[in-house]
Amino acid sequence: MNVLVVNCGSSSIKLDLLDPATGVRVKKASVERVGSEGCSFAIDGGDAQALAGADHLAALKAVLPALLGELRVDCVGHRVVHGGERFNAPVRIDDEVEAAIEALVPLAPLHNPGNLSGIRAARAVLPDVPHVAVFDTAFHATLPTRAKTYALPVELATKHGIRRYGFHGPSHQYVANRAAEALGEDIRDLRIITCHLGNGASVTAVEYGRSVETSMGLTPLEGLVMGTRAGDVDAGALLTLMREEGLDADALDKLLNKESGLAGLSGVGNDLRDIEARAAEGDERCRLAIQVFCHRLRKYIGAYAAVLGGVDVIVFTAGIGENSATIRHRVLQRLDFLGARLDEDKNRSARVSQASPTAVISEDHSRTRLMVVATDEAQAIAAESAKLAAAADKVDGGTRIPIAISARHVHLNRQTVALLFGEGAELTPYKPLSQPGQFACEQKVNIIGPKGRIDGLRVLGPVRSQNQVEIARTDEFKLGVDAPVRDSGDTAQSAPITLEGPAGTVQLTEGLICARRHIHMHPDDAARFGVADKDVVEVAVDTDGRDLIFGDVLVRVSPKYALEMHLDTDEANAAEITPDVEGVLAPTHGSVRLLRKRTEFVHG
Ligand code: AMP
Repeated sequence: MNVLVVNCGSSSIKLDLLDPATGVRVKKASVERVGSEGCSFAIDGGDAQALAGADHLAALKAVLPALLGELRVDCVGHRVVHGGERFNAPVRIDDEVEAAIEALVPLAPLHNPGNLSGIRAARAVLPDVPHVAVFDTAFHATLPTRAKTYALPVELATKHGIRRYGFHGPSHQYVANRAAEALGEDIRDLRIITCHLGNGASVTAVEYGRSVETSMGLTPLEGLVMGTRAGDVDAGALLTLMREEGLDADALDKLLNKESGLAGLSGVGNDLRDIEARAAEGDERCRLAIQVFCHRLRKYIGAYAAVLGGVDVIVFTAGIGENSATIRHRVLQRLDFLGARLDEDKNRSARVSQASPTAVISEDHSRTRLMVVATDEAQAIAAESAKLAAAADKVDGGTRIPIAISARHVHLNRQTVALLFGEGAELTPYKPLSQPGQFACEQKVNIIGPKGRIDGLRVLGPVRSQNQVEIARTDEFKLGVDAPVRDSGDTAQSAPITLEGPAGTVQLTEGLICARRHIHMHPDDAARFGVADKDVVEVAVDTDGRDLIFGDVLVRVSPKYALEMHLDTDEANAAEITPDVEGVLAPTHGSVRLLRKRTEFVHG
């Protein structure tokens, strides 16, 4: 299969025709200085050919036929920087999607217009193949509200869509997957901090495969020190510059995006190689640039380790992350307290490439593994595009799935049953639940947090190997605890809670979660929908003619399951889905339809 990846920047275009499974390039082209008299293009790194004055459209119309010749293109993947509120997964491009991307231009005035020109030109030149948009922001759609919200007046922020979106999504997702794969572990068991350090730079906390915090915000300007971008600056400093230097928005934009970062600090440009060379010769500004760069990143790693409740792997990627052993060494100093121990020999000798994309640079006994991983954004985009193009044909959009509202409840192990209900006590069925073999019990328990208590939670049977208490978001505030959103069964490092039963009290050090929304499916259902266990899908729910889309719905497939989607009480309330039967898992009149498979990156 050949996927053409189109990456249109404001003044440059990169085109890669590649195999999405292996990343092997069939052919590539680049266009420089788009929109100026000096515009030129080169194929496979060959001689530059003039395209004087060509804009994106003219450039692509000239370059695509020259690049492709007789070569087959099965699918086109477009990098789109900003997906706004709407696009939290790759999407097949049609006229409506194109218009929606155009409507997002105010959120990303430097990036989306170029991306859009690429889409228009490529659709005109290749009208008969599927075009897919892959968004930089999409991987970060799973950021919890507390991480994506700025402390600005809510009405104003909502009106302008101002929140943290995050960028470099395909790269963070790709290197996190590659790292897990190289370690031979399931990404769903790992807490990974990915440091994408290129000319643009960002760091992401990836909790069990999902982005939960990232350093770039509404725009790709926030966070780390970058080639020419400032990253974090006190907003008050900007007000001072506006007042004292008379700078307006455009001037500030230029200052912060083009004249700051490593370039502004060092005074010798944005290329770290030059800055490292000068620093070694004693240049004070270059030394300072490196110190600020590394300090900022170390600060973020510490913060993200706290967000994740610990870290299993730290990954370095992109131009600086893959190539500068010095930067990795400086950043990783004094992280012993996280169990991160760099092996300096491995660090110095680490070389990664597309052919050999990963290297471990930590000592053998380092609790936190340290890795260098070669990113390949074009392959990430190609794989997402190919998967969506293939899945789109398979998805069964017609079958409706019953919804169950999952009220707060507990699962107990045998020992806890004995402590709460007395030695030798057995769980007694009260009524069967929709999932085969599961039942609500006669027994109920009370749960007690530091701020309050909730009485009468139904125990679900049969007994399990570990305790698990599932509550809704609003319950957290009543109890005064901060419970993570988790898949059922995944209680490691979750929140503590006290259980009270008729025979005694048990203090759990972990086990309290907000259950992630999910669909139970029998393998036959999964085959019909074209999805697999652990896929993440979007689901359209329509109740009383009101269409609502739930993203980030986990698919769970087992021969033991009956087809059913589980929402917690808050989510059901938000969707105005009300149970018609009282109970722990109450079926409702609402129904869901599998809207679109959300492709998670899988290596070929
Ligand atoms: P990227 O945006 O991922 O292409 O990264 C580009 C940046 O990586 C360049 O501007 C350099 O600052 C940096 N870089 C590339 N190679 C090296 C190297 N060998 N040593 C230090 N920095 C490098």
